[in-house]
Amino acid sequence: MSEFDLIRRHFTRATPGALLGVGDDCALLQVTPGKVLAVSSDMLVSGTHFFPDADPYLLGHKTLAVNLSDLAAMGAVPRWATLAISLPTADEPWLEQFSAGFFALAARNGVDLVGGDTTRGPLNLCVTIFGEVDAPQALRRSGAQAGDEIWVSGNLGDAALALAHMQGQVRLDEEEFALCATALHQPQPRVALGLALRGLACSAIDISDGLLADLGHILDASGVGAEIDLSSLPVSDVLRRRFAANYPLSGGDDYELCFTVPLSRHAEVLAIGQEIDLPLTCVGRIVSGHGCMILDVDGKLIDTESTGYEHFR
Ligand code: ADP
Ligand code: MG
Repeated sequence: MSEFDLIRRHFTRATPGALLGVGDDCALLQVTPGKVLAVSSDMLVSGTHFFPDADPYLLGHKTLAVNLSDLAAMGAVPRWATLAISLPTADEPWLEQFSAGFFALAARNGVDLVGGDTTRGPLNLCVTIFGEVDAPQALRRSGAQAGDEIWVSGNLGDAALALAHMQGQVRLDEEEFALCATALHQPQPRVALGLALRGLACSAIDISDGLLADLGHILDASGVGAEIDLSSLPVSDVLRRRFAANYPLSGGDDYELCFTVPLSRHAEVLAIGQEIDLPLTCVGRIVSGHGCMILDVDGKLIDTESTGYEHFR
């Protein structure tokens, strides 16, 4: 099968939101007047971000999900994506499953795949995603202020726990692993939450490298510090049973949102959680100064050197 047949068969679908999609030298995209583009790329590399034998349907999902997560963290409406893919072989059943997972999530989020690149090489998947936002409403990392509450969506640490199991560092039973594996392999990008937070959150980020590391980016960009109440961190029953504080604090691959909102608007955040049916938990507050302090149940300072997973360390 030629490269062009492969693209036609697996990566060409209707693109109702584009003037021109896959098949020409460029796609043609009309941005809604008054909006600006929010653009982000994320690459998944075999052996670094996923196991070479990863389920292709779930991999297709995750390849797009991690990119949608960035748009969510910016409060942008998803519109278009491109996919640059490097493949060792043209494995038809694999491609079928990969594209099915990719397009299922794309359809749920109104994303058109409008172009990309396809080459032979080690398995490598890179999406660039394009969304739209009113520039003043974009949820930047730099807006956190002393007095804001710090919130996170969903549960933290399950994906890292599943990975630790797969790497033989912990041993979960089958049922426990199945629950955590869903968080690792099928993260749900919090697009609806990001949109609901426009005009409410002062800052936001998606948690891909662990809460401490990613909140750290908000703190650096905003020139503030934070206090986190360890006992308030939202964790699943599985993680609670196996409790090890480092998973919710420093695990990776959560793809939940961390955001800050003025204390006076606490109730509005809770109402959003109800409306979109997603647990939102206040885990601490922004303070003046710098750095992140972790407090135990009694409000006493815990010393922790943990940071998120950093590549090339
Ligand atoms: P060029 O040689 O001009 O770069 P290509 O042959 O790489 O064009 O691609 C042909 C068309 O297919 C282009 O519209 C390109 O955007 C699209 N395309 C290539 N690979 C993919 C892919 N993996 N997913 C979606 N579209 C793709
Ligand atoms: Mg090309």
